[in-house]
Amino acid sequence: MRVLGIETSCDETGVALYDTEHGLLADALYSQIAMHADFGGVVPELASRDHTRKLLPLIQQVLDDARLSRGDLDGIAYTAGPGLVGALMVGATTAHGLARALDLPVLGVHHMEGHLLAPMLEADPPAFPFVALLVSGGHTQLVAVKGLGDYRLLGESVDDAAGEAFDKAAKMLELPYPGGPQVAKLAESGDPGRFRFPRPMTDRPGLDFSFSGLKTHTLTTARALREAGELDDQGRADIARAFEDAVVDTLVIKCRRALDETGLKRLVVAGGVSANRRLRERLDAELTKRRARAYYPRGRFCTDNGAMIAYVGAQRLLAGERDADAMRAVPRWPLAELTAPTIAS
Ligand code: ATP
Ligand code: MG
Ligand code: FE
Repeated sequence: MRVLGIETSCDETGVALYDTEHGLLADALYSQIAMHADFGGVVPELASRDHTRKLLPLIQQVLDDARLSRGDLDGIAYTAGPGLVGALMVGATTAHGLARALDLPVLGVHHMEGHLLAPMLEADPPAFPFVALLVSGGHTQLVAVKGLGDYRLLGESVDDAAGEAFDKAAKMLELPYPGGPQVAKLAESGDPGRFRFPRPMTDRPGLDFSFSGLKTHTLTTARALREAGELDDQGRADIARAFEDAVVDTLVIKCRRALDETGLKRLVVAGGVSANRRLRERLDAELTKRRARAYYPRGRFCTDNGAMIAYVGAQRLLAGERDADAMRAVPRWPLAELTAPTIAS
């Protein structure tokens, strides 16, 4: 089954073709980051307009790349949520319009299920069951995964997501949006011994996270250095390093705990922050010690992309699940509400 996947939940227009027999056939991405950078964050109305401008050309591009035409498609999947409602609507209406015109089944899928299953696109995918750490711009969650659609929330952030904290720390260090990769780069030249930031909520049992305190810590440290006339390149790098070490350490401690509590040996790490090199190094080292293993998406499938949506859509469409007539755009939608594919009657 050949499925066209469409992702427009935030500031990335992603399109891909996934074939349940031959794997990923093509994928294309247009990032709006440069446009939103001037505003220091995503401007919802501009995001919707830009998705409208780019979506159809990108669909044509993936068909051309795969040397296919619209008639070769067997189904269409789009991100139905969570995300910015106007941005979601662009993908949802386009998917439903195309499906109606081509007489194809269409399905709205969950953006975080896309992130969660992105490692399935790699050569050596994880087998079920596993623990998943979802670390993105809007989510930080630990999930016990038994199979497609069988997700139990183990813990989550009670305030900021890890990616959001990276982005805010970046602003305080006067780095451009989105800050994650920039903070990571600056941290490379930082001295790990100069500052030690707290590891929030690791001193008590449980699998929840909190990252807003680290933000305050970053702010007060930067302010103190500025007042002392020491907020130079080295000072900023030292703060970036302390911040990154604290986030990474916290995530590693909670992942270890989640594996212990579930008795599982496989950990999937996905979402934008899973691209972080230090996080991967630390997790790999910790998991090797306990004969466990971590699975990650390739770099460009850590952040938003169409491939993960095409993949999830293909699994569910193949099982017979599809939207009824109406398209869906659901800004808030907890992952644990998902179920195994439900067959259309
Ligand atoms: P969600 O998926 O929760 O709706 P989103 O789609 O905006 O949010 P993603 O696209 O998955 O999030 O990831 C973007 C986030 O990942 C940003 O916050 C960005 O700063 C962060 N990020 C990307 N690369 C890195 C990195 N190397 N280190 C740390 N953070 C990173
Ligand atoms: Mg994004
Ligand atoms: Fe995302």
